[in-house]
Amino acid sequence: MRKRRVVILGATGSIGTSARKVARDIPERMEIVGMSAHSNEAALREAGKEFPDAKLAMSSGDGGEERLIELATMPGADMVLIAIVGTAGLRPALAAIEAGKDLAVASKEILVMAGEAVMTAAREHGVQVLPVDSEHNAIFQCLEGHASEHVRRVILTASGGPFLRWPAVSLAGATPEQALKHPTWDMGRKISIDSATLFNKGLEMIEARWLFDVEMPRVDVIVHPQSIVHSMVEFIDGSVLAQLSTTDMCFPIQYAVTWPDRVPNTLPPLDFAALAQLTFEAPRRADFPALDLARHAGEIGGTLPAVLNAANEIAVDAFLDRRCSFPAIWQTVERVMNTHAPVAAPDLAAILDADSWARHRAAELLS
Ligand code: NAD
Ligand code: MG
Repeated sequence: MRKRRVVILGATGSIGTSARKVARDIPERMEIVGMSAHSNEAALREAGKEFPDAKLAMSSGDGGEERLIELATMPGADMVLIAIVGTAGLRPALAAIEAGKDLAVASKEILVMAGEAVMTAAREHGVQVLPVDSEHNAIFQCLEGHASEHVRRVILTASGGPFLRWPAVSLAGATPEQALKHPTWDMGRKISIDSATLFNKGLEMIEARWLFDVEMPRVDVIVHPQSIVHSMVEFIDGSVLAQLSTTDMCFPIQYAVTWPDRVPNTLPPLDFAALAQLTFEAPRRADFPALDLARHAGEIGGTLPAVLNAANEIAVDAFLDRRCSFPAIWQTVERVMNTHAPVAAPDLAAILDADSWARHRAAELLS
C-alpha cells in the first residue's frame, strides 16, 4: 500500500480543509508534507499544528509564486493538490509536473485556462492528473477500464444552485447573500457564486473536455438538485454508469489520493432508504446563459476559454463587492468574449496575455 506524500496549495480553504480531514482519516495512506495559504497566516499556523512535519508557505506578497513553486517541487512530495481559487495555481502546477509530481486538481480554473498545456505536460512527464472536482472524479471513476472511443457522452450533474426555481425576472435583484447560499454544498465564495450563475458547470464542461479528451459536443449537463449522483458516463451501447455518494468533498479527495486503490474511512455511507428521491431535469439555458457561453468557448478553444474564465473572475469580484448586478456577471463575460480575437493553439505566453487582457477589459466594462 502506497502512502502519498501530499503538498496542499490552498490548505486553508474549503477544499484544503476537507483534504486535511482526509489526511487525519487515512493517515496510513496520506501524509501532508507541505501547505500554503494566501492571506490567513494564523489559520495556516493552526493547520500546521496538526501536521508538525509539514513545510508551510504564505503565497501573498513579493515572491509568493516562487514560494508556491518551491513547495510544489519539494523533494519530499509525490503529489500536489491544487486547491487555490482561480488561476494562481497554474505555474506551480506546471512546475510540479516538471518535477515529476502527480497532480490532484480542484482548481478547475487552471484547466479551463490552460487544460491542453497541463495535460500535454503531464503526458510528457509521465505524471497523473487526478480530478478532485466531484463531477470529474465521478466521471474518472466511471471511465476506468473503458476506451475513450466507447464513450458516447459524459453527463455532468448540476445542483442548479440557489436560483434553480427563481423566475428569470427576479435574477436582476439577486444579492450576494442569496447567491452564496448553496443548497447542497458548503464551498468557497467564488465557486458558490459560480454555482449560482451556472458558470461553475460551464467551467466544468471545459474542464471535462481536457481531463478526459472528449470534444465539447460529447459533454452534457443535467440538473440534479440532490447532488447525490455526482456525474455519469454514457457509452456507445447506451449503458450509463453513475457514481453516487453523500455530498462531501472528502470522497473525491480521498479517491484522488488512494487511486487506484480503495480504502475504508469514517465518511457517512449512502442510506438509500432515507433518500426520498433522485430527480433530473434539463437546465434553463436561456435564463442562465453561462452554459452556452462556456460551450461556445470550449468549441472555439484557443484563448477563448481563458478569456471567459478571467472575465468571470473579475465580474464575480464586482458582484461580491456590490459593484454590479447578478446578470451583469454573464453580460460582462459575453461582451468580453465578443471583443476577443481568439488565438488558436496558444502557448503559455499567449494564454497569459489573453487572461490579463480579459481582466482589464472586464474591469473597464464594469467601472
Ligand atoms: P476557498 O476560497 O475556500 O479557498 C481558497 C484557498 O486558496 C485558500 O487556502 C486561500 O488561502 C488560497 N488562495 C486564494 N487566493 C490565492 C492566490 N491568489 N494565490 C494563492 N493562494 C490563494 O476556495 P475553495 O472552495 O476551497 O475552492 C478552491 C478550488 O477548488 C476552486 O478552484 C474551486 O472551483 C475548486 N472546487 C471547490 C469545491 C468545494 O467544495 N469547495 C468543489 C469543487 C472544486
Ligand atoms: Mg464540481
